[in-house]
Amino acid sequence: MKILQIALDVPLPRLFDYRLAGEPADSLVGRLARVPFGPGVKIGVVVQVADTSDQPADKLKSAELVADLPALPADWLELCGFCARYYHFPVGQVTTFALPPLLRRGKKPRNPKAKASAVPPAPTLLAPLARNPGSLPPTGGASAWDGPAPTFHSATPDQAAAIKAITQASGFQTFLLHGVTGSGKTEVYLRAIESVLALGGQALMLVPEIALTPQLESRVSARFPGAQIVSAHSGVADAARARAFLAAQEGRADIVLGTRLSVFMPMPRLQLIVVDEEHDASFKQQEGLRYSARDVAIFRAKQRDIPIVLGSATPSFESFYHAGSGRYRRLDLPLRAVALAMPRVATVDTRKQKLQDGLSAELIAAISERLRRGEQSLIFLNRRGYAPVLACPSCGWISHCRRCAANLVLHLADRRLRCHHCGLEVAVPHACPDCGNLDLQPFGRGTQRLEAKLVELFPSARILRIDRDSADSPKKWHALLAAIHAGEADILIGTQMLAKGHDFPLLTLVGVVGADAALFAADFRAPERLFSQLMQVGGRSGRAALPGEVLIQTEYPDHPLYRALIEHDYSAFAQEQLAERDAAGFPPFAFQALLRAEAPELAGALAFLATAVEAAEALAAPDISLYDPVPMRLARLKNRERAQLLVESRSRPALQSFLADWMTQLYTLKMPRDLRWHLDVDPLEF
Ligand code: ADP
Ligand code: ZN
Ligand code: ZN
Repeated sequence: MKILQIALDVPLPRLFDYRLAGEPADSLVGRLARVPFGPGVKIGVVVQVADTSDQPADKLKSAELVADLPALPADWLELCGFCARYYHFPVGQVTTFALPPLLRRGKKPRNPKAKASAVPPAPTLLAPLARNPGSLPPTGGASAWDGPAPTFHSATPDQAAAIKAITQASGFQTFLLHGVTGSGKTEVYLRAIESVLALGGQALMLVPEIALTPQLESRVSARFPGAQIVSAHSGVADAARARAFLAAQEGRADIVLGTRLSVFMPMPRLQLIVVDEEHDASFKQQEGLRYSARDVAIFRAKQRDIPIVLGSATPSFESFYHAGSGRYRRLDLPLRAVALAMPRVATVDTRKQKLQDGLSAELIAAISERLRRGEQSLIFLNRRGYAPVLACPSCGWISHCRRCAANLVLHLADRRLRCHHCGLEVAVPHACPDCGNLDLQPFGRGTQRLEAKLVELFPSARILRIDRDSADSPKKWHALLAAIHAGEADILIGTQMLAKGHDFPLLTLVGVVGADAALFAADFRAPERLFSQLMQVGGRSGRAALPGEVLIQTEYPDHPLYRALIEHDYSAFAQEQLAERDAAGFPPFAFQALLRAEAPELAGALAFLATAVEAAEALAAPDISLYDPVPMRLARLKNRERAQLLVESRSRPALQSFLADWMTQLYTLKMPRDLRWHLDVDPLEF
């Protein structure tokens, strides 16, 4: 008798045995099967077929294959198996996650061969097709952008060298394509993809955010009009996502473009993987299967023995380190492809002057100058809302979230107090809830407050605020982008939403406000994040023929981070930071995992972690450091108290083998019902 070992969506790290109902089939492995489980029915993936089972034969229930869906390929199952082992996550929950929602339920999309996911006809405004280099569109008016069909310019020598290296790679090789914004990295990806398509291969391109994919989609589809391109991200509707999955799996899709989850698209002819903005934190999922799509992509390239290109203007320091050590091959594009020069970066010392609601005289003058010249300015402040807290000066009351260890942020636009962690929302009180004082005061500054000040300073300017409040739907977001492109805004106020990937030809000034706080954050990755954010946002200016300028307001003008930005010297800063991490024993010089627990009371979470420490110590694993359980920085979230325990090792194999043994033990522990825990391997957030 054939025993099917099936991965099911159950929080247990094991497969479940069933016998096959009905006729024996030839290919069982990789098929979806419908099985009785407990009182209900589940859909799972057949991972293995065995001849015997630990279960007595009469106890085995029977599984029914889901008809008309092709078997998932072996390398896909192996990829899921790798994720289950490496992230110590139940294998059936990995396979479930890796499937599109429709297939998870054993359903087929209607019309599965229809064009998998038609690339939406993005407005030409949002489709920066390859343009004639140096041709600056006249201002104002969309027609300026209904430009010519894509022109194929010749690669610069640096681009040519990069393309050659990638296309000539034989087998697995990780390339780190390091090039400033506008240096032509996307051109390099497209040409490498072109050569893969010419050889009949498939290419997978990962990008950090849904918001960026439409823009890229139009560029890619304009470039490869004959190719079948599918996109995969959480914004794609279920049916289209399932169709895209099947198109990729059956080899009909030539290019798969998407966010982190598209790393799980089965692709039989896969020949190249590209990870754009590889440093971006959104490649790491922060819930459920806490995988890094970049790292899984590298595993996948190795598994398939194909090249992978990691691209960034500010590579993660981990990747930069691996490029330096020879593990990755570094490809540099040090020059911008079209703009004349890099923007001029300068600091404004805010210790020496009285600011006007956070704005320095220099920055205000620079904005006025842009208004006079008909150019755009962007003021970058990575904090939305009006003010981070509302307070009562007479009794000391402040606007706390009652569910989290966090303050409620004042949103004056709609007169609400909002928790940015749990979403709790209340009306702004007109008097202090504690003492009745009518004079409540906002403290600190967010984008709305900056907007109000700029409106006051520049009453005739057209001012647009772009943050998650003003762009809370893709439709609004696209409308805002279109307005910016059409030259319908003079001053933009934006959070990091605006920092990435967008090409605003009229933008020549970027002002950075309120960045200092991140200099001294407790997280060792905070400087890396700030540096790359400022480099990205600075890269928005002067992308076309107008030179750009970046003004950073700071009380620490001599800080090495700002010095490195002024010099455009990513490498110097990365090296300095890597030396510090080496001395402190942080990644990439050590490997980490976090065990997190949450419970209604902090004591409950800490007690579980204490038990976990005992279990770990009993294993007496070599080369492992265990830290003390501590409350998380945001200790209370949605009325749950959270604590964590850091495990570290200088050896990844040592850490992995310890984690495997440790998890086996933790899965057998009896747990209070209201306790939740999870393991985060290679955590990015602490
Ligand atoms: P990145 O991805 O590094 O930001 P892109 O590939 O988007 O850079 O290139 C930036 C701009 O330069 C685009 O408008 C692109 O069409 C143009 N460009 C890229 N390579 C060349 C080239 N070799 N010659 C002329 N223009 C180029
Ligand atoms: Zn009060
Ligand atoms: Zn809250």
